[in-house]
Amino acid sequence: MGEARAAVLHGTEDLRIEYFPIPKTKEDDAVLRVEACGLCGTDHELFTGQIAAPCPVIPGHETVGTIESIGEVAALKWGVGVGDRVAVECWQACGRCAQCLKGTYRRCDQHGQTDLYGMINTERQPALYGGYATHHYLSPDSLVLPVPDQLTSVEATLFNPLGAGIKWGVEIPDTQPGDYVAILGPGIRGLCALVAARDAGAEFIAVTGYGSNDHPRLELAKALGADLVVDVAESDPVKSYRSATGGRLADVVVDVTANAPGALGQAVALSSVDATIVMAGVRGQKGAPGLNADAIIWKELTLKGALGVDAPVYRKALSLLAEKKFPFDLLTRQEVDLEETSELLTSMAGKSDVAPPVHGVIVPGS
Ligand SMILES: [Zn+2]
Ligand SMILES: [Zn+2]
Repeated sequence: MGEARAAVLHGTEDLRIEYFPIPKTKEDDAVLRVEACGLCGTDHELFTGQIAAPCPVIPGHETVGTIESIGEVAALKWGVGVGDRVAVECWQACGRCAQCLKGTYRRCDQHGQTDLYGMINTERQPALYGGYATHHYLSPDSLVLPVPDQLTSVEATLFNPLGAGIKWGVEIPDTQPGDYVAILGPGIRGLCALVAARDAGAEFIAVTGYGSNDHPRLELAKALGADLVVDVAESDPVKSYRSATGGRLADVVVDVTANAPGALGQAVALSSVDATIVMAGVRGQKGAPGLNADAIIWKELTLKGALGVDAPVYRKALSLLAEKKFPFDLLTRQEVDLEETSELLTSMAGKSDVAPPVHGVIVPGS
């Protein structure tokens, strides 16, 4: 049986290493040996208390690992066996309710939108419901995605941000070949939305950032194929966009900023008539200063909120990664063991002197 080592969040910036028994699998569940867990904005917001966490909790919702044990029913249902490498969808789905049957399993009647891996109190047995651990319990309602052999487990954790990039940058706004695109926010999701829009055949893509901290990321955006990068602290994004495109504005605007209340106003200003804006950047309840709401009417804009991704898109992300068509290796990456996770989250939250990597990954035992 043995013990699993996990980093447990007990409150604001209070992450502790703890040990839990590794559960014995039943016929319909499994245990994953975690090889890598990607970190995103949600992780540092949970860590710093900006998002309420159901403490104590083992966070981590971008998990990749190898099936260590699995029951017969689960093996048949998921099509995987011991030794197979999989990425874990953080939402659980019963597969039988009306929402699950129509594909919107993120609103499953049984699990709802909040019963996510990485967001479950450790009181619930067998406690190992998050990626900040050596082992992850996979409940009968788990969704797992096979990882192509061409990818290391660390590379494969990009299934999550790239899935978001494809869903938010292409599928939700229905980005077409020839479209003009603007992506607000040069974090990993913004960079992944850039790659996805490029892959979908967008004609022109701009990426915006804010301040000198974002300059290395804007350089990365250029290396990944952005036609224009704009620091909105220095330049007016609409003027820059127009002068680079000969006067055109964007057909698709993707807002993946973090804590940037002004971004929605910029998104509307950057939109051409009939454009679609995908809103996936939360503003910490600070409203939308600078928003010309009338312009939404005059330009006949479509605004769509985007919260999650889904398994079919994660599959596309994994195969796009496996094609190695885009230089994801350029992303600055930091791999840490569970004990060093607090430090990395502190830097990702902008609370330390150390510049955060674009892609932070926990590799237990590294
Ligand atoms: Zn995430
Ligand atoms: Zn369901």
